[in-house]
Amino acid sequence: MALKSINPSNGILIKEFAEISDVELIEKIEAAQRAFLKWKNVSYSERSRILNNAATNLRENKNKYGETLTLEMGKPINQAIAEVEKCAWVCEHYAENAEKILAEEIIETDASESYVRFDPLGIVLAVMPWNFPFWQVIRFAAPALMAGNAAILKHASNVQLSAIAIEEIFVKSGLPENLFTTLVIGSNRVEQVINHRHVKAVTLTGSEYAGKSVAEQCGKNLKKTVMELGGSDPFIVFADADIDSAVSTAVTARIINNGQSCIAAKRFIVVKDIAEEFSAKFAKKLASVKIGDPMDKSTELGPIAREDLLHELQTQVDKSIKLGAVILTGGKILERDGFYFPPTLITNVRPGMPAYNEEIFGPVASLIVAEDENDAIRIANDSPFGLGASLWTSNIEKAKLLASQIDSGSVFINGMVKSDPRLPFGGVKLSGYGRELSHYGIKEFVNIKTVWIK
Ligand code: NAP
Repeated sequence: MALKSINPSNGILIKEFAEISDVELIEKIEAAQRAFLKWKNVSYSERSRILNNAATNLRENKNKYGETLTLEMGKPINQAIAEVEKCAWVCEHYAENAEKILAEEIIETDASESYVRFDPLGIVLAVMPWNFPFWQVIRFAAPALMAGNAAILKHASNVQLSAIAIEEIFVKSGLPENLFTTLVIGSNRVEQVINHRHVKAVTLTGSEYAGKSVAEQCGKNLKKTVMELGGSDPFIVFADADIDSAVSTAVTARIINNGQSCIAAKRFIVVKDIAEEFSAKFAKKLASVKIGDPMDKSTELGPIAREDLLHELQTQVDKSIKLGAVILTGGKILERDGFYFPPTLITNVRPGMPAYNEEIFGPVASLIVAEDENDAIRIANDSPFGLGASLWTSNIEKAKLLASQIDSGSVFINGMVKSDPRLPFGGVKLSGYGRELSHYGIKEFVNIKTVWIK
């Protein structure tokens, strides 16, 4: 089957990619294994040199790669360029810090000498989503390669131009051949890769459905996994918050990446004393968002990445409305070329509605009114997901105490949830397990090895 890249801003096919054969697939895995056996003995300084080259390459070509992203999945061009720059940052971060993080740790025991080493595992397979086509891949590849592993990428079917561009970046940066390999395959062939004896671990970023399926296949093979899955992040606003600042961040947090970010704020939980003011200001600001061609630098909201996802979004909104939710703005697919959904605010959102229980992957904000602060925290935790959370209050001491009560992988106080190479990133509950970024991320794919000497 051929994989298709379709421009979501007009629905036109950009290119088709023929899948590789089974024989080619095995050859690529075996070539990656041979490359790994050499790479694991390469010094950190040489690995750093190559990763720094990759960073330079990314920065110098940020406009070109940004356009590739925008063309293929529709994010506004400024955000696409920023994504490429962030990729350069994560390469530099690990180029600078991997050796320190993975230095041997001496531990006093009954031995004359005992210590811990961090050795690479081998080939790590990454199954990646289309929503941040460069960032998701590079944030996995930079630490995995710096730790001495080889990387194999199975990217989302609709972003093969990005997948191929990333492989080219690494090759151009001097990475030995076959250490980073893109497999042009559909998701039905991932199991074949997992089953291969040379594939030692798998990291998946994507939906809960894909995560469960891949985790099950890895479980059968006892292969280590990291799962970065969906989210329905709460954005909690207390009465003592700076409402205008909260509203303005709420808009960005919901529409960034055309509303298709795992850590986008999705459930806006507002205490009742300020609910009316917040919802009126929020609806007004959402309605004024500039929708348009994502290649236009002034566009704030572009299209949904795929036509099927656009219709799925409409179904989730319609079902919520049928169950009693009320639209304050937006709510219907726009009648124009491409896959456009307007910024939408729905209120009266209650348990049992898709807008309450499911991940809504598009610019649709669910407003949920809480009785008081305790009720707001209860609602925040009343979700199958637990990726990020944003809490708005002027009482920082109270917020710090409440951070421990929120079931999520991160809590941002008076700010939008975001990723940063220096901070661990990941979730709990159906948002997955394991961590990326920081020193926690690079240690996911190493053999933590004890050495004991008499
Ligand atoms: P998706 O449909 O789950 O796809 C993700 C990747 O998994 C794609 O490469 C896909 O391949 C593959 N895949 C899907 N089903 C599979 C299966 N049964 N077996 C093996 N591979 C399978 O997700 P998406 O629509 O690309 O991305 C959106 C989702 O990713 C959202 O839920 C979002 O929250 C989540 N996400 C999470 C994070 C995080 O860090 N936690 C970050 C970004 C996105 P095909 O494209 O070929 O189907």
